[in-house]
This record gives sequence, C-alpha cells and structure tokens, in this order.
Amino acid sequence: MTRRVSIFGATGSIGQNTIDLIGRDAAAYDVVALTGGNNIAQLAADAIRLRADVAVTAHDRCLNDLRDALQGTGVAAAAGEAALLEAAERPADWVMSAIVGAAGLAPGFRALRQGATLALANKESLVTAGPLLMAEAVAHGATILPVDSEHSAVFQALVGEDMAAVERIIITASGGGLRDMPLAELRHATVAQAGAHPNWDMGQRITIDSASMFNKAMELIETREFFGIAPDRIEAVIHPQSIIHALVGFSDGALMAHLGPPDMRHAIGYALHWPDRRDLPVARLDLAQIGKLEFQTPCETRYPALRIARNVMETRGKAGAVFNAAKEIALDGFISGRIGFMDMTAVVDATLDVMSREFRLNEAMNTLEEVLAVDHLTRMAAQAQIEQMEQH
Ligand code: NAD
Ligand code: MG
Repeated sequence: MTRRVSIFGATGSIGQNTIDLIGRDAAAYDVVALTGGNNIAQLAADAIRLRADVAVTAHDRCLNDLRDALQGTGVAAAAGEAALLEAAERPADWVMSAIVGAAGLAPGFRALRQGATLALANKESLVTAGPLLMAEAVAHGATILPVDSEHSAVFQALVGEDMAAVERIIITASGGGLRDMPLAELRHATVAQAGAHPNWDMGQRITIDSASMFNKAMELIETREFFGIAPDRIEAVIHPQSIIHALVGFSDGALMAHLGPPDMRHAIGYALHWPDRRDLPVARLDLAQIGKLEFQTPCETRYPALRIARNVMETRGKAGAVFNAAKEIALDGFISGRIGFMDMTAVVDATLDVMSREFRLNEAMNTLEEVLAVDHLTRMAAQAQIEQMEQH
C-alpha cells in the first residue's frame, strides 16, 4: 500500500534527509506536498523526481520561478502562507514538520486537524505551544512522533514501559562548536565559529543554537511538553561524542540508553516506519573503535540558556512562546552582526522580563491565534531590546 506523505521544509537539512529515505523506496510513497523557501531549483527537482502533487514556496516573490521550473511537469506550483496551510490540509498519512522556526507551527496544526501522523522535527512547535499541540492531536485522533534525535531516543527507550515507572529523562548535548573556547572569549565568537558543529551536520540556525545551548534549552522544554514529565526530572548532560542521544531512568535504578551515529536519518526513519523498524542506511557503531564515552555537567555560566529553560518549564503558559520568539530574534541579531554571541541570552532574559509585565506569563493560551499574537508582540519587544543594545 502506498502511503501519502508531505514534507514541510523539504529543502532544509531535515527535509533533504527525509527525501533521501523516501527516494530510496519511491514506489512505496505517494508524495502530496513538498514545501521550501528560496531554493527553488532544489524544491522543483525533488517535486518532479518524487512526482509530488504540489510544490509550495513560502515566498510569493519566488512563485514565478517555481512555475517556470515546474512548467509541463504536472506538479502544481503555489506560494505564500495561505498556500502552505492549504498544502497542510491536503489529506496525507504522514507529514514531516521540518520548517525552521515558529513558521512551522500553523502547518503542523493543520496536518493534525486532518488526522495525519505528524513527524515533528520543528521543535519550536512544542516549545511555543506544547499543551495546545498535544491537545490538538488527541482531539483529532492524530499521532505526533518526535524527530529531534534526543526525543526519538527517549521515545524508543519508552516502548513497552509505563510512564509511572520513569524517574528521570536525561538528554545529551555535544556542547556545540564553541565547547572548548575559553569563557572570556565567548562574547567575541563569530557566526562562522558558532556555526560549525563538531558532530552533526544541520541547518545554520540550529547549529548556532547548539553552540549557545539554546537548542538544548528548547529540547528540555520539548521533553517536558511531549512526555509530560516534571521539570525537576529532566536533565541535560554534556557528552562530546554524541553517541548516546538520551537516557531514561526507571524507578528500579535501570538506565536505558539509546546509542547511534549522529545521522538524523535514524530518527526520521524511525518516525517514518513506526511502529515497525526497517533497515536504514546509517553507519553501524563500532564501540571498540569509539573507545570511550565522556560526560560532564554543563556549566550554567557558560550556557545561561539552560537556566532560562528551567524558568520557562516551571512557568509554562505563555513563557515558551515568549522564549522562542525572543530567541529567534536574538539569533537573527547575532547572525546579522547586530549583537554578540553572549548578548543573545541578555536579549531573551530582558524580553521575558518585559513581557512578564505585559501579561501573566503563566496564563495558558487557548488558541493558535493567541499563540501567534504572543509570538508577534514578543518579536517587537525583542527587536526593541536589540536596538537599545546597539545604542550603548
Ligand atoms: P534548515 O534551515 O536546513 O531548513 C529549514 C526549512 O524551512 C527549509 O526548507 C526552508 O525553506 C524552510 N523555511 C525557512 N523559513 C521558512 C518560513 N518562514 N516559512 C516556511 N518555510 C520556511 O533547518 P533544519 O536544520 O532542517 O531544521 C528544521 C527544523 O528541524 C528546525 O525546527 C530544527 O530545530 C529541527 N531539527 C533539526 C535537526 C537537524 O539535524 N537539522 C535536528 C533536530 C531538529
Ligand atoms: Mg536534538
């Protein structure tokens, strides 16, 4: 039986890895929609090769190029936010959510509403709107499967287990590209330095978030929201080899670890074939060759994002949406050279503070529109913080 699949963010790092897996067994899939941004050549080539029904670019200005590239191929072309939502409403059995940033939120909700299984790489969805997203899935009998490697690892370690017996969840962190840079030099770290990851090959934004550990901060919040476990039972540990992705500790003292090579096709493939396991084209680990696995406690002076994550997990409500939007703006500010590497946390801290005076951060949000409104207000507040910093 062919499975109908759509890939949101098909031209990105996760999207291309997903296409790699699907392309190896193309007859088994009926590709509904592929979406991308500026990279029209890639989007069109994949849409044609996989015979997608529709290809969507997020940018209206790219529509003519996309139309030209798809001329006479039978693949429809579309552009813009409304087209993305329309694509997410097209019936599909499995939808990959791999747009980067809060832009991935609304398409994911639409996919759940039509009952699709949502393979969730877009961590911003759980961070900004975790309780709503999980409730949406329940309301529509839809399934969410984690694709972030740590959460896929936890999910796999939990198969057949009772959550009541789970004592703690430990996610690992490589420490990112600046792990060995002296603390005093971090404030001068460049985009190129922060954008080079020791173990994983990922998109630019998540790679820089790994260096600041905003990525791990997001993942702690993701863990809290997806597995419904109390914040004080979630830990992050630095593990430079990135071989163990996560561990689950049970009430009998057992720790179940998930090991694998740093290749996102494992987590993507697990979500694609779940609940089965199928052969995947990932390297097999040679433990004797790896030799040793190291662990160390992350220092919160070096990685203040972890401290912020703790507060966000305790507060919940609107805090995650504010945290994520502020982080996205701070990251833009760093990438464009407006603020330094360590200023990103200062922007997020200050924005959380400003927004806590705007409304009660611990108040729950009831609709996606409310989430998007908080996101929008926060972006303006974070921009104002960056402008203030630039003046000093
Ligand atoms: P990427 O930058 O490589 O790709 C992002 C994709 O989103 C592209 O297809 C781009 O065209 C699209 N996009 C960007 N802005 C958009 C917008 N405003 N509207 C619509 N589409 C837009 O990113 P990535 O590394 O593949 O990451 C994708 C998501 O998966 C992120 O949420 C990231 O945190 C998460 N994730 C990635 C990895 C990884 O290994 N790359 C691992 C775990 C989780
Ligand atoms: Mg991860």
